[in-house]
Amino acid sequence: MTMQGLNITKNSENLMGEIYRCCDNPQITYLAPVNINVDERTIGSVDVWRCAVCKKKFCEEKQLGIDSITDIVGMPRIEDDEKWGVIVSKLQKGKDKWKLVKLKQNGVIKYETADEKMLDLKIENYSIVDDYHTSFLVEDHLNRAVEI
Ligand SMILES: [Zn+2]
Repeated sequence: MTMQGLNITKNSENLMGEIYRCCDNPQITYLAPVNINVDERTIGSVDVWRCAVCKKKFCEEKQLGIDSITDIVGMPRIEDDEKWGVIVSKLQKGKDKWKLVKLKQNGVIKYETADEKMLDLKIENYSIVDDYHTSFLVEDHLNRAVEI
């Protein structure tokens, strides 16, 4: 066995211990995509998965032409008081213009911009309230394309 082979085995074992289970008997199936369009051209998408047992939804951000860079095995965790949303920046272009996030109903979200600045964005009723950023909820746009 090569060193690389050993490393891969070790990594997957580490990740296996951290698999998030949404309920006792998760049955997760693909639900729908939401396409992200700029000038009527699709630049990325959000894949939405759902557990048939507890109905929790899970989302994965896909940038067109870029392989998924997440190391998460299983589904990304979301809390009961959060919803999947997309933040759209009016200051950025292309792939930097949008980001998949988890929005609480009210409060503040820490948002990292494309140039790695941390912003505090205000959330009201699962929606970003800010002069330079907007947002939408993934669940409102299943099987549709959203022009950003
Ligand atoms: Zn579940």
